[in-house]
Amino acid sequence: MALKAGVVSGEDYIELVNACKAGGYALAAVNCVGTDTVNGVMEAAARNKSDVIIQFSNGGAQFYAGLGMEDSFQAKVLGAVAAAQHVHLLAEHYGICVVLHTDHANRKLVPWVDALIDHSEAHFKAHGRPLYTSHMLDLSEEDIDDNLSECARVLTRMAKIDMSLEIELGITGGEEDGVGHEIDENADNSHLYTQPEDVLKAYELLSPIGHFSVAASFGNVHGVYKPGNVQLRPEILRNSQALVAQTRKVAANPLNLVFHGGSGSEKAKISEALTYGVFKMNIDTDTQFAFSEAVGAYVMEHEKAFKHQIDPEDGTPYKKQYDPRKWLRAGEQGFIARLDEAFKDLGSVGKTLAG
Ligand SMILES: [Zn+2]
Repeated sequence: MALKAGVVSGEDYIELVNACKAGGYALAAVNCVGTDTVNGVMEAAARNKSDVIIQFSNGGAQFYAGLGMEDSFQAKVLGAVAAAQHVHLLAEHYGICVVLHTDHANRKLVPWVDALIDHSEAHFKAHGRPLYTSHMLDLSEEDIDDNLSECARVLTRMAKIDMSLEIELGITGGEEDGVGHEIDENADNSHLYTQPEDVLKAYELLSPIGHFSVAASFGNVHGVYKPGNVQLRPEILRNSQALVAQTRKVAANPLNLVFHGGSGSEKAKISEALTYGVFKMNIDTDTQFAFSEAVGAYVMEHEKAFKHQIDPEDGTPYKKQYDPRKWLRAGEQGFIARLDEAFKDLGSVGKTLAG
């Protein structure tokens, strides 16, 4: 069934997740920090006829509100709200489905998520749908029972207003905006791999409450490191799916799995992960670099225009070159080109459900 273009939530979101899993493809979840990246994601999704996930870390949300805002907690909340309103207004005009999501929130950031749910409750009252499609809680540093009981509390709130929750089990290596874990190059790094028993525990507790997804760790890391430190083991995803399906006597691939730390991953491992019910892959580091690389190339090519308004020797005016729209657009184009590649790797090109 075709969905209405724009931000999806509730049943429409579930339909989108299920279509990904049934079709063996995944949506790119792209970290954004402002209108340039948000619009770049929607432009890339539109030209690839691919649905997409726009997500904000707490730092990205704060940046959206402006680093000059004195109260940084307020900036993280209001920036996320402003960004969501921007996407709600524009997404339908790009003709694709957009999932709105927030990235890692550890215990310190639970009040941020709760404040955003307050805003979604108000939005639900006024418009019959939440502001955000889903949020993530990353309490993977904590004991599994503490992690899951807090997830259950938050999901209970969210389920009432058609929202979904992403949880983290096991640990994604590296760091995402101050939330993360060291990679010890000499250790066996077994803490980087999720235990299927923990995934089963999560399924049993959370599936009666509402819709949720799991960021399971299978050796994935945030950021791009030199290869060889940690092995990607997507079979952990397969084993988790099999344990839940057999124990709970439900159909294959019952879990909605999320691949964090997708930047720099081997393409073959990405393809393998997609066959195990991964519907979302986060991408941040590679798109950050693509944006900055393109801006850097533009600046180097037009070096004089970044030092002089008018050429000191021949008087040529450089306004057309230093206009921030020129180099920001160059950045957007580099970012969009990298997303073309991500959509292709994830198999989502041409698969939009918007009609
Ligand atoms: Zn992550």
